[in-house]
Amino acid sequence: MTMEELREYVRARVRITPSGCRNWTLCLDKDGYGRAFVASFPETNRAHRLSRIAFHGSISDGLVVMHSCDNPQCVNPVHLSLGTQLQNIADSRDKERGGAYFYSGQENPKCVIDDDGVRRIRTLKRSGMTHSRIGAEVGCSKTLVTLVVTGRRWAHVI
Ligand SMILES: [Zn+2]
Repeated sequence: MTMEELREYVRARVRITPSGCRNWTLCLDKDGYGRAFVASFPETNRAHRLSRIAFHGSISDGLVVMHSCDNPQCVNPVHLSLGTQLQNIADSRDKERGGAYFYSGQENPKCVIDDDGVRRIRTLKRSGMTHSRIGAEVGCSKTLVTLVVTGRRWAHVI
């Protein structure tokens, strides 16, 4: 895969939000970061790092990619900057990131799907697909699919 193809790969998998963030639309990890594994770029499986590589070139050893928007699922290269681990810790402390857990739905950086994902899960369920196939299709766990279709999670999405 070339750098141009990598940029296309990233562009095709984001949703632009009103705040200008480009939220990763595939799987997120437990910390809320987008997950992406591209065989030609094995140095990372985090979507925001891959995006930084795609738009700004490789990341020097030991540097972390920081979000100016403090939105872990955002992969907008304009919101990403390089720093040391120490700078990153100071940065999160400044922003008092802890408050984020009170948000619901897709505002919550811990969630692994967005509102469109929820609607897609419900549509696929109506078409008779099994929960594990839906999970594979949407990029989330079978457990989450079950929670969505039974209305125990994301009931506020219409
Ligand atoms: Zn952002």
